[in-house]
Amino acid sequence: HYGSPVTRRLTPYVPGEQPKLGNLVKLNTNENPYGPSPRVLAAIQAELSDNLRLYPDPNAERLKQTIADYYDVTPAQVFVGNGSDEVLAHVFHGLLQHSTPLLFPDITYSFYPVYCGLYGIDFATVPLAEDFTLRVADYPRPNGGIIFANPNAPTGCLLSLAGIEWLLERNRDSVLVVDEAYIDFGGETAIPLVDRYPNLLVTQTLSKSRSLAGLRVGLAVGHPELIEALERIKNSFNSYPLDRLAIAGAVAAFEDREYFERTRQAVIASRTTLVAALAGLGFDVLPSAANFVFARHPRRDAAALAAALRERHVIVRHFRLPRIEQFLRITVGNPEQNAALLAALGQILREVEACD
Ligand SMILES: *Cc1c(COP(=O)(O)O)cnc(C)c1O
Repeated sequence: HYGSPVTRRLTPYVPGEQPKLGNLVKLNTNENPYGPSPRVLAAIQAELSDNLRLYPDPNAERLKQTIADYYDVTPAQVFVGNGSDEVLAHVFHGLLQHSTPLLFPDITYSFYPVYCGLYGIDFATVPLAEDFTLRVADYPRPNGGIIFANPNAPTGCLLSLAGIEWLLERNRDSVLVVDEAYIDFGGETAIPLVDRYPNLLVTQTLSKSRSLAGLRVGLAVGHPELIEALERIKNSFNSYPLDRLAIAGAVAAFEDREYFERTRQAVIASRTTLVAALAGLGFDVLPSAANFVFARHPRRDAAALAAALRERHVIVRHFRLPRIEQFLRITVGNPEQNAALLAALGQILREVEACD
């Protein structure tokens, strides 16, 4: 036992499977079915040179400026990191560690309690409504911070900007973090509110809507004082979280608006088709503003369905957690992947019905 006691106390996050097999229809980790923009690949190619012997810009100024221009804020309001998971880790470490408990929904991104364990943050969960929507009225009370994903994960449910502003009006003394990993698939970003609410921090990722899960780039936008706090944490941890290739690729991803818009709309259109088809197979599907759907079959066990899908080389995500253990979280794929999923589900349901 050479590890320090803290390692034994931790309950690490378990990410969705990244299978080694190539022939699977992979709908389990909300990756984008479309590749990154060709301009992103060209920018990364152009960066492949002798320059890789040099450290990257520790402040990723070019990327911060690009993001600032994109969202009409200043670079001092932008923080970037190695995936939004790293950004979130710094947020928990630097902004959410207080004597009153941090609040987040009972059902949300399952990394939040893991960060609380890592940094020793006291937290309380707030139950979502019966229909899995977030009731903002349940949050105004003494707290050390509030965090939720919007759209929420793994439900896909969206909270309106008006709802977020209602909460900001009533929660002035602690930081409110809105994790917008999926916002581009159907919501309105809260970034325009950061100028009016100095305690609002919005995080985003290039992993989902910009098809760059493999490049590891995430960001946060908020008041310069919040960003400064995050910089202090980051510069006490790793000066160079973004390498040269990541900076070049991320800049190009924000510059190619046309490609972003086209692929984003393709995913949204596929979601509409997928929701209708799942309903046709008898599933209850929560309204989704994300690139995944959360669905339950009224008569079929979700774990059994996930296992049967896997036998047919389709992988989806199933969480063995209270309230949601009868749901499957299914990433919206391209039309071919969705057709393969639906064909497999149709077969499975017909087979079990024949046995009933
Ligand atoms: C995917 C996801 C993230 C992490 O994104 P990365 O940038 O790939 O680390 C953060 N929050 C939520 C809610 C997510 O679904």
